[in-house]
Amino acid sequence: MTVAIGIKGHCAHCDITFELKPWQLNAIAIEEPFDCPYCQWVLRLNCPRQLRQFKSLDHWALVRPSMVVLTCVVLMVVLVAEWVGLISVIGQFNVSLVVLLVHFLALRYARYRQRITLDLQVVTPALPIEQLARIACARLSQH
Ligand SMILES: [Zn+2]
Repeated sequence: MTVAIGIKGHCAHCDITFELKPWQLNAIAIEEPFDCPYCQWVLRLNCPRQLRQFKSLDHWALVRPSMVVLTCVVLMVVLVAEWVGLISVIGQFNVSLVVLLVHFLALRYARYRQRITLDLQVVTPALPIEQLARIACARLSQH
């Protein structure tokens, strides 16, 4: 994860929504279960749709740096066009204004897409086979 802002998790057990820490986001990214900070139950993201949404967050994080580059290039091109007399001062002003508007709208939309709440399901820990076998052996040896 490069940038993670405003990603929240909702615990299905204690019904609390909390801000996810970077290590919890990493756990979700590698599909590993982790403890709920409030009720200590083991949680994991089971919904495939939300998992896909979560994994596409990296792309949205790239919107900001690429928009900064794009906006700077367009503003410079427009400035040069005005200097060499291709467009008027008013024209240059209008184009710059539209570019800045598009820039902020794109950032706003990217931030909106990054703000998600993940529904974390409780993982019921299944007893490992070895542990069951050990319990069975202990019971047998008692007789
Ligand atoms: Zn919980």
